[in-house]
Amino acid sequence: MARADVNEVIVEKDQPNQPHKGKVFAAIHAHLDDVPYYAGGLCAKLIHEGYAGYLIRTSNDEKCGGHTTGENILSNETEHTKVAAALGFKDTFDFYYQNHDMNNISTLDLRGRLIFLFRWLKVDTVVTFNPWGHGEENPDHALTGRAVEEAAWMAGMPNDYHEHAEAGILPHPVQERYYFYGRPGQSYNRVVDITSHIDRKIDSIVECRSQGGGNSGSLLRARLAREGKKLDLLGDDDRTADRAYVREFLLDDDREYGRPLGLAFAERFYYIDQRVSAESAKVEAYLAKHARPL
Ligand SMILES: [Zn+2]
Repeated sequence: MARADVNEVIVEKDQPNQPHKGKVFAAIHAHLDDVPYYAGGLCAKLIHEGYAGYLIRTSNDEKCGGHTTGENILSNETEHTKVAAALGFKDTFDFYYQNHDMNNISTLDLRGRLIFLFRWLKVDTVVTFNPWGHGEENPDHALTGRAVEEAAWMAGMPNDYHEHAEAGILPHPVQERYYFYGRPGQSYNRVVDITSHIDRKIDSIVECRSQGGGNSGSLLRARLAREGKKLDLLGDDDRTADRAYVREFLLDDDREYGRPLGLAFAERFYYIDQRVSAESAKVEAYLAKHARPL
């Protein structure tokens, strides 16, 4: 079926008057710092414009944090809650699949859990990895994106997990998707202006201390102090130092994506809109022109 949404790069700007009120989106990532970097601005924007947002993390992040496996799981879990709060999400879900080893999990299990959440939360829109984006070396990213794509499609079909309906959890189609621009050269057809949401994005990145460099500013400040030096950029406290470091050194991609369009900060996505099919739009147009009273 022909789709009108692909292959055309559209710039998505701030929209007034909360046009998304009543809608729900889920941002699904594998690791603590994926959503903050790839889509922190978009998520803050969607929530500001009326969406209710839920943040789902598929891995347990046990390989990142610089401590023992158990300590890494706990620090990432704690920081995930803080990331969600910084961006305005209503709730988080953590699936705890083994970090870096998601190739070996049951993709049916992952898909089934996502279908349950998409139906129960009535998810209209998903934000996640591009399941077919090239250059992806992290198996957790690819596996998560693939399962989300399948689940988003099946969540609206009554014969998949029909027992859900008996429990009162009805089929609910996911109709819009934003896939991350995860690696250089991946496809994108939407550039989102996140300039007015950049502070929220920075707020979420500074919570990524186990991975993602959120505490780099305070670490640098401490190092300089040991060497008897200071940087005006980093201010006089750790929070200021972390935020300033992120703004100065970690947002080059967002600046680069915005520059050709005259935007201070932007994020890229491959966006798919299935709210109106090309077929039904054509039929409705035909009816408007040719239908007549009996
Ligand atoms: Zn990741």
